[in-house]
Amino acid sequence: MDTPPLQLNELLAEVHRRKPVQVLIQIPEGLKTNVVEIEDAFTREKIPVITILDPSFGACDIADGKAQVLGCDLIVHFGHSKMLHTQTNVIYWPVEFPLEKNMIPGCVKALNEEKFFQKNKRIGIYVTIQFHRHVNEIKKELEAKGFNVFVGMGDLKDGQILGCDASARRDIEDKVDANVYFGDGYFHALAIAFASKKPTYQYNPFTHTLENLEKYKEKYLRQRFGLIAKAKDAQSFAIILCTKKGQLRKALAMRLKEELEQAGKKVHVVAMEHITPQALMGVHVDAYVNTACSRIATDDFESYTKPLLTPIEVEILLGKRTLENYVFDEIRHIGNKVM
Ligand code: SF4
Repeated sequence: MDTPPLQLNELLAEVHRRKPVQVLIQIPEGLKTNVVEIEDAFTREKIPVITILDPSFGACDIADGKAQVLGCDLIVHFGHSKMLHTQTNVIYWPVEFPLEKNMIPGCVKALNEEKFFQKNKRIGIYVTIQFHRHVNEIKKELEAKGFNVFVGMGDLKDGQILGCDASARRDIEDKVDANVYFGDGYFHALAIAFASKKPTYQYNPFTHTLENLEKYKEKYLRQRFGLIAKAKDAQSFAIILCTKKGQLRKALAMRLKEELEQAGKKVHVVAMEHITPQALMGVHVDAYVNTACSRIATDDFESYTKPLLTPIEVEILLGKRTLENYVFDEIRHIGNKVM
């Protein structure tokens, strides 16, 4: 998969309009090979620029404070869309994939070949920001082929989901037979698969394959239930707070502390910006609770030597939620509130 076009000329025109003194570039890992190209483009335009190389996984981690420390009055945040209010002026530059000519026909073909969709034609479609610009076209093309397509509106843009936010399902959940996530990678797709009661499929527009996510859900649940079972014997816990603005859920951490203490556990609250197994080394507890991005539990849990639970899994551990009601840990961003 090639890097999507960065549209640097359009970006520079927008930067000029804002007349910044100095720009701070914030860029996701997948675009780091473009740092030199981007800095060169700014330099040619005589715009002073600094690129921050700390990992940037989402707009939850906007480098607002760092821009102020570095004396930058404009942030250009690549790869994500706006989530939080900031002190510093920000241009969110999503970096979108073009809709190549086989992407939608491939999706129609794959849906028509799937037995489920031969009878069930009402689908909710979901995308990440990289495909958001094409939502209406995807809807129109699928409808022209006989599908009844719904695009939900949640806390983000229409049809847009994140690994921590599948709120776009809320107003269409009852109207659809199934969800179709248009994109690659399983993290976002699983967010909608767990949040919705309807079957969820993922259409990968690069490989033109359609997958029912049920088997991934089952595999994920087996892993998570194994960790919850392991954590049942834990007597001490470290609840992890993330200091990134869009992941900081202090009230939740304090509630979980109280609930675990009421169950007779010893609980410590620790805070860090980048959550890694190394940062937790030497903290002598039996298990961790992660109140930050659910990706840490989803993708990285095997790197941790102790069980690392989500807040939802703590509810299961404490008997406040049943295994059947397992859901992904969603983070809501309303204005400057993170819940
Ligand atoms: S919390 Fe995780 S899933 Fe949500 S925006 Fe941040 S990086 Fe993405």
